[in-house]
Amino acid sequence: MFDKFHEECGVAGVYANEDAANLVYLSLYALQHRGQEGAGIAVSNRNEIATEKGMGLVADIFSQEKLDRLTGDIAIGHNRYATTGLSELQNTQPITVTINAGVMSLAHNGNIVNADEIKQELVKQGAIFNSSSDTEVVVHLIAKSKKEDLLDSIVTALSQLKGAFSLLLMTNDKLIGVRDPMGMRPLVLGKLKNGYILTSESCALDLIEATMVREIEPGEMVIIDDDGLKSIFPFEKTAPRPCVFEHIYFARPDSFIFGNSVYEVRKRLGVKLAEEDDVEADLVIPVPDSGVVATLGYSEKSGMAFQMGLMRNHYVGRTFIEPSQSIRHFGVKIKLNPVREVIEGKRVVVVDDSIVRGTTSRKIVKMLREAGAKEVHMRISSPPTAFPCFYGIDTPTRKELIASTHTIEETRKYITADSLHYLSIDGLMECVQSYDYCHACFSGAYPTMHHNGD
Ligand code: AMP
Repeated sequence: MFDKFHEECGVAGVYANEDAANLVYLSLYALQHRGQEGAGIAVSNRNEIATEKGMGLVADIFSQEKLDRLTGDIAIGHNRYATTGLSELQNTQPITVTINAGVMSLAHNGNIVNADEIKQELVKQGAIFNSSSDTEVVVHLIAKSKKEDLLDSIVTALSQLKGAFSLLLMTNDKLIGVRDPMGMRPLVLGKLKNGYILTSESCALDLIEATMVREIEPGEMVIIDDDGLKSIFPFEKTAPRPCVFEHIYFARPDSFIFGNSVYEVRKRLGVKLAEEDDVEADLVIPVPDSGVVATLGYSEKSGMAFQMGLMRNHYVGRTFIEPSQSIRHFGVKIKLNPVREVIEGKRVVVVDDSIVRGTTSRKIVKMLREAGAKEVHMRISSPPTAFPCFYGIDTPTRKELIASTHTIEETRKYITADSLHYLSIDGLMECVQSYDYCHACFSGAYPTMHHNGD
């Protein structure tokens, strides 16, 4: 039952700033890498909440006209990255609803593993769902808990959830941020000249010139209103298990998450990868952009020259339409092109962060050989991705994950590389020591319930 709808997302919320919607818009722009499918912003003018949403990229959705309609000094926003078919507007967030305790907007990053179970139960009791998003389950649970106090309702609802949630909630006069007890997805707190911001990654703070205060702790809920900022830990305590793949691939290298600089972690992964390697080659090149920082580490450690042997077109969107069927399928070529002058006649090490289905690596190896590479050695700055993620990173089922169905040697043959080496799991863990990270995608050790990944 893994053909369910899956999300990776970015969130941002601003409190007590008259430019709230504009600041959230800029934050979503900085978080575009966390979701390109659609985005939305909801803003409170302390009486009512207005929402604008759309499909596509942040800059394309929000015209000046739309932003001008979003007046108020509290706002939350969301970037969505849905990966299985369902990409309709009704699944974009924030979701704004009126419940017993008042009007409320929600924006959610992460995946709730018991959402289906809860949803079935709610439907049996007569609940109606408008979308296939997990977040609507949260809304129903909050509405149903019928506590006088909205905060009590939120705590009661969230306590029933298993899995990952970095969640922003907005009422007429409050901004609330919550991280699930395992702290799987990031959430940071920043201070603006006027007011506060909560957002997925610190790179958003830099753009809007907010100062980073700290990360929201796993299991922490912060409530920001005119009385200031209050922090509570309302959930049963459990060991934090932040997602290691945020560091490997998903977060931006200029962000600081889970107590570490993403850049520094990624560079260490490259250093480790080189320490575990003894290949002889002339140069090392990254698969841009995902492999760049690890390649710097690899180059530094191995002494091998770093070159940009592949160039990336940064303007390829997810909606690219190939112009005609008479022109052959472009595949990865539309995004990456080798630099013949760098590659020709060389023994090349090429570094990427991960192999999922193997299609990208296979095409890259072919491309490099066509550009005259004498040898192509593929290096991956994480262990083999053999298990799907249930907590918000888009990975396919086990049968589509090449590392799940093939040995490393079989994978090497498939991608037609001269050699293939992955970072070891111990090596990975040495690079990220501050927490006992979730590494289920590599180890199958899921921190919630038993999943077999099928
Ligand atoms: P594949 O062709 O299926 O093996 O995909 C591998 C490529 O996808 C690598 O270049 C990765 O950087 C990238 N990648 C890995 N995980 C994800 C993800 N969750 N979402 C989008 N791209 C990813």
